[in-house]
This record gives sequence, C-alpha cells and structure tokens, in this order.
Amino acid sequence: MDGSNISNINQINQNIYFLRDLFKEYYKNNFVNSTIAIEKREIGIGDFGKKISARHLSFANDSALNEYLRTKTPFFISYSVGYYNYPDKRGPMEEKQLTGADIVYEFDSDDFDLDCKNKHDIWVCKNPECKKHGTGHISNCTECGSVVEITEWTCDICLNKAKTETKRLIDFLETDFNLDPSYFIISFSGSKGYHIRLTNPSIINLSKSARLQMMNYILARDLDLKQLGFEYLNKQWSCPKPNKSNGWSKKIMDFMIDYVNTADHTKLKNDFNFSKLKTEQFLEKKDDILNKMHNNILYSNFSNGQKFWQNLIDFSISQMAFKIDPMSSSDIYKIMRMPDTLHGGTGFLSNTIESVDKLDDFDPFFDPVVLDNKNFKKIKILKPTPKFRIKDQTYGPYDFDEEIELPIAVSSFLILKGVAI
Ligand SMILES: [Zn+2]
Ligand SMILES: [Zn+2]
Repeated sequence: MDGSNISNINQINQNIYFLRDLFKEYYKNNFVNSTIAIEKREIGIGDFGKKISARHLSFANDSALNEYLRTKTPFFISYSVGYYNYPDKRGPMEEKQLTGADIVYEFDSDDFDLDCKNKHDIWVCKNPECKKHGTGHISNCTECGSVVEITEWTCDICLNKAKTETKRLIDFLETDFNLDPSYFIISFSGSKGYHIRLTNPSIINLSKSARLQMMNYILARDLDLKQLGFEYLNKQWSCPKPNKSNGWSKKIMDFMIDYVNTADHTKLKNDFNFSKLKTEQFLEKKDDILNKMHNNILYSNFSNGQKFWQNLIDFSISQMAFKIDPMSSSDIYKIMRMPDTLHGGTGFLSNTIESVDKLDDFDPFFDPVVLDNKNFKKIKILKPTPKFRIKDQTYGPYDFDEEIELPIAVSSFLILKGVAI
C-alpha cells in the first residue's frame, strides 16, 4: 500500500465521522414518526457505502427509534413491508409470525431507458493507466478495451418520468382496484425515484397469489383481448365502445384514439414502418377511422389495415403497462427505506409526500436537501461527474482530482455517492 492510499483511508475515516455527525444533528432536530405500527416492523440498517449491514432489529415505539437515530445514527434505515408478532426474532422468517404486509411499488429513474441517461451517466475505464471516461453506457473502454465502471446519475427529465408514472399508478389503483388513496404512503426514495406503499386494510391481508394477480394486472400480463372487447372475426376487428369501457379496455382504447388523432409520418414510420404513401392513405381516412372506433369497429380501409390494428393494440399495451419489478413488489419479507430518514448514498431526505396532489410541487433536487447548505467543505473528485443541480445552483462537471470547496450538503452528496473524498 503506498502513501496516497493510506492518506485516502484516513480521509475516508474522517469523512465518515464528519457525515455521521451531520446526520446526528439532523435527527436531533427532527423527530421521525411516519411509520405505521413501528412496533410490528422488522428494521434494517446500513452503513457508509452499504445499504443493509444488519436486519432483524425492532423498536417498541417512535421514541425508541429516534433515540437510536440520535445516538447510533446509521447511514440507512429501512422497515419491513410485513407486520410481525416478533419482528426481531432471528432464524427462519416464519418465527417472526407475519400478521400482514403492505404492498410497495417503486419507480426508479433508471428503469425507463431515457436518452438523458446517455448525457449524465458516466463510464470510467477501470485500467488505472488509462482512466479514459465518457458519457453513456458501454461495457469496454473505447481507448484500451478494459472493462469500465458506470456511475448512474439523475436529472429533472428522468425523475419527472418516475413522478409521472407514480401518479399514473396511483390513479390506476384508485380507479381499477377501488383503493382509497388516503392509505397510500407516497415518498421520495432519497435518490433515484419514488415509492408507493399501500397500507389499506383490504391489502394487508392479501395472500401471496392475490398479490401476484394484482401485479400481473398492473403489468398487463396475460390480458385476454377477446374478454376486453377486441376481436378479429370475418376479416374485421371489433373494439369496445370507448366511453362505456373501463379497466384495460378503456386504457387501450384511449391510447389508440389519441394515437390515431396525433399520428403523423414520423410516428407511423418509427412505430410501424409506414411508407410515405401508406401514411397519406391512412391520414386521408383518419376521420372515418375515428368515427368507426366510436362504433365498435377498427376500420381497415387502408392497405394491411388488419395487421396495423393488431400491432397498435400490442403497442398500446406495451406503452401503458407499468415498468415495475414484479419480484420486488411481491416479496412480503422485503425491507424498504423508511420515509423521512436520510439516504446514506446521497444525504438527501426520503420525504413523505402528503398526497398525490403534492407530488407536482415536489422538487427532488430541492426539497430533500436538508443538510447544511451555507457552510463549505473542501473535497477532491475521485470520479468525473456530470453537471447537476442542488437547490437553485448548478454544479460541475468535475474532472479527476479536482479540489473544490462546495456547500456541505453538496460535498456530502458527492462523498456519499462515492465520487469524491
Ligand atoms: Zn481504458
Ligand atoms: Zn436523466
């Protein structure tokens, strides 16, 4: 080990000390009490650079939890979706005696594969002699072919997409499952997205298979088109009446009507490989097509019309289905970030968002920034960063070894993200 490594390790230890003190200060001034039935939850904690380092903890009440946050001050804290008689019992999970479980759906900005990822995600060559870096996702260095390491970042575009999807799912749960949204706990993850936790009495006792069925419906898996009102018979597609349909029938019809209404050559060419001539044919008959859609018919008065409707139905489903990890949402033993605690990978708060109406106003680069933003701390950049925003200020991009003095909340963010020291 050379001298610079040793001084790095010293610096890391000093940083951990510094950050834990900052977190402590936060918990001294802010009482966390947003967990329903805390005494029945299994609690997990994490350390610097590690989201979960211990599980099977429990707290008798909010005071005990807050005492722990103020004195031990873990970098991460999560609580179970499950309610248990013995939340801290070790050994097989059955011994905890599960009495019910919430359902949690998560939307991460990483899940949407948006173009912005190519602008702000950064790859760095792992070969220390090379150190070449760039933006986007590649697996091997463009210079020397070595494996690269990728750091993912977020921006307003991808976090907005996560927010829009959160809102869309809440609406879906309300209309299609008739669930009362006042039982939903909506929160920012503290980093890349949003969580919706369903605590409705009708949810917490659902069996695993009922949870999976619900999941499949949300993911639009195994939809029966005929049952939804779409049928191909005697060389003609029929469809449900848009204003009388509900559930997936309505969602597909709404999407298709909007698609036909706004179709132009670019869209039709990209999505369905239409030629210029075919587009003209289609657009000429657009009014006819829309009229017939309101009368149960997907009109095929243009070449290859039958095939187009089959493709448009499939396309609508793929566009409207939610991008949720089914494994994670059906896991009843899962633990998830506790709302209103700090995220140890960013230093941001995982804010509870009071209601779906409040989501629009929530700014994920402003509202969760609760650490000291007035005083400064000097840091050294270990991995190049893109441009990013904290509160009203834009920072970066920063290159290797840059030494900079930034507001403590910003320095902490970069240290906790693992790109500065
Ligand atoms: Zn390289
Ligand atoms: Zn983005």
